[in-house]
Amino acid sequence: MQFRVNARLPCCSTSILLHAAALFALPLAGHSASAARGQPMQMSGVVTEIVLDDFAHQTSRVEYRLDDVQSRRHATLRFDGAAPQGLHTGTRLSVTGVAGDGGSILLSADSASVQTMQATSLAMQTATTQSTAATVVSGVQNTIVIIANFTNATVTSTPSQIQNIMFSDPTGHSIDAMFRETSFGNVGFSGQVAGPFVINFSAASTCDLAGWANAADAAATAAGVNISSYPRRLYVMPTTEMSACGMQGAGQVGGSPSRAWVFDYTVSDVYAHELGHNLNMAHASTPASVYGDVSDDMAASGYPLRHFNAPHMEQMGWMPAGNIRTITASGTYAVAALESNPTQVPAPQILKILKPDTGDYYYLSYRAPLGLDSGLLAGYFNRVHVHKYAGNYAAYDTYRLALLDDAGVFSDTTNGITVTQVSHASDRATVQVQISGGGTPTCQRATPVLALSPSSQSGAAGSTRSYTLSLANKDNTYCSASSFSLADVIPSGWTGTLSPSTLSLAPGATGSATLSVTSVATAAAATYSATVNVSDAANSAHALSGSVAYVVQTATCVRSAPTIAFSPTSRSGSAGSSQSYTVSITSKDSSSCSASTLSLGRLIPSGWSASLSPTTVSLSPGAASSATLTVTSASNAAAATYSVQVNTTDSATPAHSASGSASDVVVQGDTQPPSVPTALTASVSKRTNVSLTWQAATDNVGVAGYEIWRNGARVATTAARSYSEALTGGAYTYYVVAYDAAGNRSGPSNSVSLTIKVR
Ligand SMILES: [Zn+2]
Repeated sequence: MQFRVNARLPCCSTSILLHAAALFALPLAGHSASAARGQPMQMSGVVTEIVLDDFAHQTSRVEYRLDDVQSRRHATLRFDGAAPQGLHTGTRLSVTGVAGDGGSILLSADSASVQTMQATSLAMQTATTQSTAATVVSGVQNTIVIIANFTNATVTSTPSQIQNIMFSDPTGHSIDAMFRETSFGNVGFSGQVAGPFVINFSAASTCDLAGWANAADAAATAAGVNISSYPRRLYVMPTTEMSACGMQGAGQVGGSPSRAWVFDYTVSDVYAHELGHNLNMAHASTPASVYGDVSDDMAASGYPLRHFNAPHMEQMGWMPAGNIRTITASGTYAVAALESNPTQVPAPQILKILKPDTGDYYYLSYRAPLGLDSGLLAGYFNRVHVHKYAGNYAAYDTYRLALLDDAGVFSDTTNGITVTQVSHASDRATVQVQISGGGTPTCQRATPVLALSPSSQSGAAGSTRSYTLSLANKDNTYCSASSFSLADVIPSGWTGTLSPSTLSLAPGATGSATLSVTSVATAAAATYSATVNVSDAANSAHALSGSVAYVVQTATCVRSAPTIAFSPTSRSGSAGSSQSYTVSITSKDSSSCSASTLSLGRLIPSGWSASLSPTTVSLSPGAASSATLTVTSASNAAAATYSVQVNTTDSATPAHSASGSASDVVVQGDTQPPSVPTALTASVSKRTNVSLTWQAATDNVGVAGYEIWRNGARVATTAARSYSEALTGGAYTYYVVAYDAAGNRSGPSNSVSLTIKVR
């Protein structure tokens, strides 16, 4: 085995790029290297690397094309096994292999299993030494987008739709806008959309990216487009070729001019992805998936346009060197959001840690929903991203290894590197980095995070206010749980409670407690502070404190009119009679008012008399007192309902004026006499016993009784309708008179006469 590519190759020296430019400026001039299949072949030239993206199946492959600028021959390099690492666009090499199908050269890598191959040799020549600093990829990329239809398949998007995707989306989501934003203004895309043109190929023919592109260039040139003025060339092809070619897009990696092919042409991030390859970016991967890091456009397709990850930002030179910090010692470090304006950040935006066993670097970064990154998957926010990248500015895949939550740990036991996310905010995260040079990761205690809510409350002196305490353990996951003691510090004489007063929390866990504070009743109006001290006898790193405010307010006295209520609310009697009422007066002042003295007055009808006792009441807020009002109506008062009132006045407080009333009903006297009793009869028994009976009289109110008159003199009264008495001998004449309770009397009834003879 004579394969001789061990180290990564440098990329993209200026001289190589010039060669490539010269070569691609004459795309139709070359021809396939032709040799009978299986015949030995030797060739020298410059490599073009093209990534074929099959997003749908999450696989990608790379084609290497070798162009010989002198002979104008070209061939596709096919390796037995993996291509040598470090083979990139612009690499100059000479190869010895055997001719394969379709103008390819078969090259043995290090496998002996492919019997059809002969031993090969591959010698790579490099024109420059390895560059050591990033070159900023900058400038407006002048781009021709050519819509190429096949003879039997067409692109269904219109030129204006593609124009919007590339250059002028009205919502600001064009490829141009995305690159300008994520590159901090370093890179933009401008140009034009040409076509559609029909090229002389049919759908599902052999996948021939270079042949299709050459034909599209020719068609555009024939239509008057000056292709050579566009160093970026992007071909939009019918979707039918997605399955025919096993890809949705393809892009040359680096080099200028460059080519990109888009088959899934309605999906913006496919354009971004293939143009990203043109700018020399490889894939944003995870160990499990080549397109797995969709925090970056160089990953799976079908997501909103987004920024690029930290390694790509460094590779492209878009992140100022001063905002990239290489960490070489253990400590606590802040990392600011990658999208933030680099001139206005509180901390570096990329932290790098050397991975000594491979020479790669770990990249720590933090993403925030700024600009187009507001469309990132939510799982990428609030977490430190840990990437691995070769870090020598060549087109190697980036690998996202971890997304850390608070207290989450990324550890590399081989190199003794531990990264713990301590905390995060909207614009930054804080990490603890431990670089021990080997060994197992250890527990790193960190100050917990204490939050008290609300930060301030107000209340009257003597009242109780409660605050919610939240405590988050920020130790890393290699630590055991801790017991945090809580203690309050409050003004002298006040009372405070913390429940619970101890929180046992595992690393990363958050617990809560309630702080209740009661001020003394005599506390003056002022803002007071209540403090919670957190301590841990086992770990001094766990001590911290937080405070809340308690604002004692002077209660405001609000004076209001009292209520005045009569009991009963109505009494009745005849003119000249007296009626008594109980009057209740209730204070409606607010509780912080002092007691008040109210004067009581009365208001009665003219000519009446009244007494009120007492005539003043002293009332505390909310208290009630009563007085008695006795009213005597005028003796000549007409029958009617009269109002009698009691009112309150307070010379110190006009608001205390109020009144209440009751009804005093004067009833008319009875002046109507009963009717005359009738049918008076008399009978005599036992010679001397006289019995009288008569018919009842009637009265408007009621007959109270009857007067018995004998011989002109009233001898008796009775409520009954009969009367008896014993007489001596003589002549007698009787009549009766009815009367009512008011003393009204009827006229006399008929008279009856009788004679008693005594023998
Ligand atoms: Zn790709």
